[in-house]
Parts: sequence; structure tokens; C-alpha cells
Amino acid sequence: MKCPFCGSFDDQVLDSRPIEHTSAIKRRRKCNKCGKRYTTYERPEEISLMVIKSDSRREHFDRKKLWEGIARACEKRPVSSETIDKIVSEVENEISDYLMEVQSSVIGEKVLKKLWDIDAVAYVRFASVYRKFADIDHFMQELKSLKKKTVKNQNK
Ligand SMILES: [Zn+2]
Repeated sequence: MKCPFCGSFDDQVLDSRPIEHTSAIKRRRKCNKCGKRYTTYERPEEISLMVIKSDSRREHFDRKKLWEGIARACEKRPVSSETIDKIVSEVENEISDYLMEVQSSVIGEKVLKKLWDIDAVAYVRFASVYRKFADIDHFMQELKSLKKKTVKNQNK
């Protein structure tokens, strides 16, 4: 690493630590020529967001896969592919804050939040796939809260 003070390439790493929630690494370095200390950040060259699945497996964020997942939930529903594009773009934009890794559940919840306002059936379909409703009670709870919301909307 080139010393930002004297330009020497002779340095030593004093300390390396990963930055929380990212794959970036912060290193404290010391120049062996001028003795000054500085910090560098390293991250993989290709910035590719990794999605951490519920079983802790990691995979690259796949826009197409997300699109298809939403499209499946919206099948035969009055949701245009432009709307799905918009959901995917918005979610993609929101998760860019995560830099390197994001839990798949975070993506799922973001999609759900958007579907909630767009189409109730698509919402429930997506929720049942994404949350893999552990039990039927959970699913009924979801339906109940959805029903309440729908009634509320109708009374507007
Ligand atoms: Zn130096």
C-alpha cells in the first residue's frame, strides 16, 4: 500500500477488522519509512450483494429471480409487469444500503410491504412462499390482519 504521506510502499498492517454487516475490511497501517499511520478499506472488487437465506446459505442477489417470485404471486391479478418492475427497482434501491450482504427475510418483508398496498391476494401468496408460514395459526393471523385492513380501506 502506498503511504499517503510519503509515498513509500513499505508498510505494515497493525490491525485488520471486518466492518459489521459488510464484507469490507478495515486495516490500520503504519508506514515503515515515515512512521505515520493511516487506514485503508478493502472490499471485493466486484460489488455483488449476497443474500443470506433462512438456512444461512448465501447466494448472489438475483434481480430476475426476485422479479419472477413477485410475478408468480401476482399471477392472474391486476398487477402490471411495470408495477413488478417498480417493486423490484425500489427494493433493489433500498437494499443497496446493505453493501455486501442482506438477509433474504429483509428483501421479503420489503416486497410484502409494497404488495400490501397493491394487491391483497398477491400479498398473501407472496407471504406464504416467503415466510413459509411455520404453522396455520400464523397464516390465519396474517389473513385476519389483512381482512381488518381491507375493511378499513373500504370504509374510507
Ligand atoms: Zn510514509
